[in-house]
Amino acid sequence: MDALVRLIETATLDQRRETARLMGKAPRTAKGLLRMAERALARAEAAIAQARALLPPPRPVACGPNCPFCCHVRLAAAAPEILLVLAYVDSHWDDDSMTALMRKAANLDALTRGKNEAERERLRLPCPLLKDGSCAVHPVRPLSCRAVASVDVAACRRAHASRMAEGAPLYEPQYQIANGVGYGLYAGLADAGLGVENVEMNAALAVGLGKPGLARRWLNGETLFPLS
Ligand code: SF4
Repeated sequence: MDALVRLIETATLDQRRETARLMGKAPRTAKGLLRMAERALARAEAAIAQARALLPPPRPVACGPNCPFCCHVRLAAAAPEILLVLAYVDSHWDDDSMTALMRKAANLDALTRGKNEAERERLRLPCPLLKDGSCAVHPVRPLSCRAVASVDVAACRRAHASRMAEGAPLYEPQYQIANGVGYGLYAGLADAGLGVENVEMNAALAVGLGKPGLARRWLNGETLFPLS
């Protein structure tokens, strides 16, 4: 469908241009970096809403609170997305919750560091950000999480039970849009001379939780997160 293809291309290219424009010139600030990441998420959501109007899913999208089945796989994101999650946790968690989350992230990182997607699917360990079956950072969850929209919760349950040996039917336009915006984000970062590392969530939380000033340090070129 031409309109859908144009929508995906436009979202991708607009994200690249905006990231390059916002981050390509001084002064580059931590606040500006996080704002840019938020705008990427908003762009994806707006394009997804347009896609659903252009080509409605064959059945209602089944994703929602208390549906954690897909949150047990390897999750990676661009550094600005990860920094946004860390900033969100920092401003929403109290000290006790932060201590508990740091412990959980360290434990999960120890079990998953260096494991590829297939190995992670077999392990079926939960994302540290799952809380009572729901995403605790839902407003700032990365593009990779937003890419997944199932139209069959029973299939998701079976996929989870089989450690992803069985698949679940996804709403493909959403997957394409979230990935397209992600590609645009990475390309814009490269255009701006910034890092394009693909950051794994468990490791990022294990090393980044409770540490102030990470966005500024990342903008200064520091390698903050393990590369795996
Ligand atoms: S960040 Fe949220 S949506 Fe993404 S895998 Fe973790 S719990 Fe699930």
